[in-house]
Amino acid sequence: MNCPQMDYFMNESVSDVVFVIDGHRIPAIRILLALNSYVFRVMLFGDFVESKEKEILITGTTVDAFKAMIFYLYTKKLEFLDNEDMELIAEVYRLADRYQLEALTKAVEEYLKEIQVTAENLPQISRIAFMFEMKELRSDLMIFIENNVHEILGLHYNKSNDIPEETEEMITESNSLKKTSRNWHFFRKLKLCSNLLSLNMSSYHEMSTIFDNNNQIFVNNLKCFEFRCDLRADMKRFEIFVENNTSLETFRLKSISNADQKSKFLNATTFGQIRLIHNTSKCCAKQVPISRFDKDSYIPYEKLQNNLKVVKKRLNRPLTLSEKILYSHLDDPNNQDIIRGQSYLRLRPDRVGMQDALAQMVMFQFIASGLSNIAVPATIHCDHLIEAQIDGVKDLARAIDINKEVYSFLSTAAAKYGVGFWKPGSGIIHQIILENYAFPGVLLVGTDSHTVNGGGLGGLCIGVGGADAVDVLADIPWELKCPNVIGVHLTGRLSGWTSPKDVILKVTDILTVKGGTGAIVEYFGPGVDSISCTGMGTICNMGAEVGATTSVFPYNSRMRDYLKATNRKEIADYADQTPELLSADSGAKYDHVIEINLSELEPHVNGPFTPDLSHPISKLAQNAKSNDYPIDLKVGLIGSCTNSSYEDMSRSVSIAKQAMKHGLKSKSIFTVTPGSEQIRATIERDGQAEQFRQFGAVVLANACGPCIGQWDRQDVKKGVKNSIISSFNRNFTARNDTNPATHHFLASPELVTALSIAGRLDFNPLWLLDWPRLPFFKFDLLGRPLLNGSAPKLNPLLCMVGGGSVPSHVTITVSPTSDRLQLLTPFNKWDGKDLTDMVVLIKVKGKCTTDHISYAGPWLKYRGHLDNISNNMFIGAINAENNEANKVKNQLTDAWSPVPETARHYKANGVNWVAVGEDNYGEGSSREHAALEPRHLGGRAIIVKSFARIHETNLKKQGVLPFTFSDPKDYDKIQPTDRISLLELKSLSPGKSVKCELKHKDGSKDVIELKHTLNDLQIQWFKAGSALNRMAELKK
Ligand code: SF4
Repeated sequence: MNCPQMDYFMNESVSDVVFVIDGHRIPAIRILLALNSYVFRVMLFGDFVESKEKEILITGTTVDAFKAMIFYLYTKKLEFLDNEDMELIAEVYRLADRYQLEALTKAVEEYLKEIQVTAENLPQISRIAFMFEMKELRSDLMIFIENNVHEILGLHYNKSNDIPEETEEMITESNSLKKTSRNWHFFRKLKLCSNLLSLNMSSYHEMSTIFDNNNQIFVNNLKCFEFRCDLRADMKRFEIFVENNTSLETFRLKSISNADQKSKFLNATTFGQIRLIHNTSKCCAKQVPISRFDKDSYIPYEKLQNNLKVVKKRLNRPLTLSEKILYSHLDDPNNQDIIRGQSYLRLRPDRVGMQDALAQMVMFQFIASGLSNIAVPATIHCDHLIEAQIDGVKDLARAIDINKEVYSFLSTAAAKYGVGFWKPGSGIIHQIILENYAFPGVLLVGTDSHTVNGGGLGGLCIGVGGADAVDVLADIPWELKCPNVIGVHLTGRLSGWTSPKDVILKVTDILTVKGGTGAIVEYFGPGVDSISCTGMGTICNMGAEVGATTSVFPYNSRMRDYLKATNRKEIADYADQTPELLSADSGAKYDHVIEINLSELEPHVNGPFTPDLSHPISKLAQNAKSNDYPIDLKVGLIGSCTNSSYEDMSRSVSIAKQAMKHGLKSKSIFTVTPGSEQIRATIERDGQAEQFRQFGAVVLANACGPCIGQWDRQDVKKGVKNSIISSFNRNFTARNDTNPATHHFLASPELVTALSIAGRLDFNPLWLLDWPRLPFFKFDLLGRPLLNGSAPKLNPLLCMVGGGSVPSHVTITVSPTSDRLQLLTPFNKWDGKDLTDMVVLIKVKGKCTTDHISYAGPWLKYRGHLDNISNNMFIGAINAENNEANKVKNQLTDAWSPVPETARHYKANGVNWVAVGEDNYGEGSSREHAALEPRHLGGRAIIVKSFARIHETNLKKQGVLPFTFSDPKDYDKIQPTDRISLLELKSLSPGKSVKCELKHKDGSKDVIELKHTLNDLQIQWFKAGSALNRMAELKK
């Protein structure tokens, strides 16, 4: 009772409400005076207390407590809501939400539920509903609007006596959009006819529907206009209240996200034209562009940190770095289930990257979705379709000619939807992303499994199928099964011949190609700082080979150096100020920890045929001999997205220079692929490119080339056993040159160079060279030079165009006679019946990667034409019946024939089929064609021992049922001649296994149990025929 004003309050009439609050007087008095039309009694003392009479627990600051009570008064006393009431309610709701005052939040919601939506209070209610994303109220509101559109329009126009000419059109449009769940167009029109309109926009898509074609918005018919903008979690949250009662007859707003417009807005407030009623701290927060090409999108650290606070409070435990980045990107951090290895997270990635081969199908799907603009910044990179044949310049010119139609489609589709387009020759997607788009804490999805490369800059960069990319572009939360976290504790220091590549070669050895499935690999420990940023990129890049969701390193000085070297100092400065988000909490728990002492780590060479077959360099000669690997190395290849940084090139060239000093050149054919035009121009400027040429190397185009099988290899005939060595990441059978007898080994660029000089696999450059074929000398290694940021002269023809989410009005045309491009036709819906008597198209034996299912190499050019590319389906997979590739028995004719031909025959005869496989089915690149093709040719289910994550999701997206054997031994029960039925599909539900009946040729039967990981949403996809069909259904 320590308040001099108490008498004043106590002398007022006493109400039935008693508040007990803490004793900060000034705000109390202010607020109480503001409420002088209400009578009540107040006692002031203590800190956080409870109003025992009303059983409302109020916590928080004094001001918060007062505001909360104001609301309480209002809910009890008010019969009519005006704008100020709504302000207060909104404020209290926000506070209740922020401090998790559940009782209060519920009270607000309960109260609002009781309010009847009417045409008169529609603006106020819509404001509350949209500002605070009260889903139920929003849906009530939408229903009301849809049912009363004429009344609303009529009412407001009659009132204003100013019916715009487009009224009829608006009514028609509104009706036609009646069933649309996200009816923003309707709101765009509605704004013209209500006295107050509240808009809450959180994506570019929504923005584009609110603004007209000139990016302008008219508010002249509005008495009050409130605009709230939260563009993908950047720092631009505004709530603006416009009173059109002065000279403000017409107010045009270009874009609130534009700094110039922002200042105009703020200036306008001083003239009384606009009242800025709420300008959150976000307004004043840093605005660091997300990239130098996306000036209107900002690094979302503040939003991420706020989300993280919510999640940390809920989980109440130390978090790993992976968890922090992932959970801070949750769509609904307050309510999302978070159990590692179990929950499906709904996430809001910051951007999308697409390589050209997969971008075609993504853009076709985006076109089919009918949306007008992308929701997050995105880029397309022309890197996969350039075949290595002669040299960089000639190969590029030929590729541009051959792929003209595809590049033209991609560039126009990119321009139409505001996607950045990196021209052919600009570089490999992951190197460009590292140089320009990745940043610490980013959540980036890319249509390529090596998107994970970006973890080297402290982000979570995840390879996804094209259909996932479409979801993100369409502003639909992206689903990911909450990953486990594998920790890799690095101690010691990298030195000498041991390189970042050796870290991942070792991790691959430990985890194998399956060991990272369903997990993020997170590196930590004192050894981290001895690895350069691009080195960390290498490690994360090849993390895809252990099946991991992605890999990540904590933000450190090496990343800062790289950000500065790539002209992104302001991002580094901002990251420096955000340590809480960008490193793991002390005491964070990993599901499994691997220990690696870098000081003791020996250089490794992995292969052949699988990246997890590891040989320390000291054992390689012996292992090669005992395994009968061809000792002569025919080709050495430097580059790919894994090892094509300036540091990699410099380390390799330092070895080459030393050899040349002794009169040596590469004994093996030697190719160099710069990762990007930036790298090419820099090594050209700094002389390394010329030194490579003198060494006998061919400098190829800045593209994937041999890494993806785009290699017109002439030195060895197909079928001839031979060895090659590269600094790439993947060495599956025949991936590079289509020759299944090529033994492909993986190593660091410096080791590849040294072994290429010897031309043999049994050479160890770490030893003093008493190698009989080489003069006596020992290689010294150069340090690890960083990319020199002073920009070299880039070839302008090879740079990026467009982007920044600025769409333009171009027309996309696809010729119906094209053999490269084909618009998509929707797949059939499920007919509601069990899938019975399906034939087994192929029972695959052993490894079945996406390369086996949808072969790359020459087929890459058909990635935009589903029917044509389907002719490669399963041609690389080994048939368990005859141990041969691309030869199966047609169960309708008994003839042996190629797999695609057989599938087409079944399809033409209306016979559904399944494919059967073993472990980690669909590992490898994330190519969705491996899911699209089976669906296109009549496949209904894939039954395997286990799936690779991305491929399993891709199958679900295309409406193919992905099942695993409950008992893996049941794989042996399936005979090639079986007829397979999937029973009781009507009751298909999450977590419930499915009965599968096998009818054998001899008349006997087996019933086995199949498991699946479909959740409710994914079951909807199956029922609709595909995720895209479902998207279209929801738009109706
Ligand atoms: S792994 Fe090879 S094919 Fe894939 S993006 Fe990297 S360089 Fe290109």
